Amino acid sequence: MRLIDSHGHLQAAAFAVDADEVAVAARLAGVERILAPGWDLPSAHGGIGLAVRHDFIDASVGVHPHAAAEVDGDAWAAIAALAPDPHVVAIGETGLDYDRAFSPRAAQLANLRRNLALALALGKPAILHCRSQAGERDAQDELIAELRLAGVGGPDWLAVFGARPPGILHSFSGPVDYAETALELGLAISFSGLAFRAGEEATTIVARLVPDDRLLVETDSPYLSPPGAPRRRNEPLWVEVTARWLAERRGVPADALGEMLVANYDRIFRPATGSA
Ligand SMILES: [Zn+2]
Repeated sequence: MRLIDSHGHLQAAAFAVDADEVAVAARLAGVERILAPGWDLPSAHGGIGLAVRHDFIDASVGVHPHAAAEVDGDAWAAIAALAPDPHVVAIGETGLDYDRAFSPRAAQLANLRRNLALALALGKPAILHCRSQAGERDAQDELIAELRLAGVGGPDWLAVFGARPPGILHSFSGPVDYAETALELGLAISFSGLAFRAGEEATTIVARLVPDDRLLVETDSPYLSPPGAPRRRNEPLWVEVTARWLAERRGVPADALGEMLVANYDRIFRPATGSA
């Protein structure tokens, strides 16, 4: 089946010695495009470097909630200066993480706001990470409130993005009604190996309700190995496990789903060259 990986951190330390080989192995396994999202300034440079070296890799730049407190004004200015680069197709990953809470909540909220403003200014969709502690949903609820506050789904964003999703809930985690609200705001939803973990059962329902044109799949490499992949290091080629699970959940042939995923990736991240 045709495949894409909408979120694989090939610039991460886990790939320091073999990122290029891992990328090429994924390409040979059928992964036609990989988006390597940044999370801070060094990873922004790392992702762009990969995109320069491989024409099937795209980059994104932004600040992850874990790094929200440590990326100061100067580092943010440097990230924002990289964002217009044509290899950069999205802003993020950003968002809220109240599970591990490596940055204080106030810093996470301020960081999310600067990332959303940059996404709107450049017309590049925001890649959104959102995790609450087990059994909680406060991060998801606050993310929706912040998206509304930023005007996502409203006239300013519609004028810039049109029918194209202005953001992506990456590595979906959360309740069903949160997904429904995000879809109402126009967002796309990307599924990862997290879907197979205990406590993430709502994701099996969400996997069926995302409209065809808002569906993406990812590995979040080197994290979130799906069943069958090595636990110590996930790689983009393992995206096939989650893609086949999605096809099964949605009751469609894997090949048809693959065509759809490639078209969605192009329309969402590469609108000038998109096939759809
Ligand atoms: Zn990530």
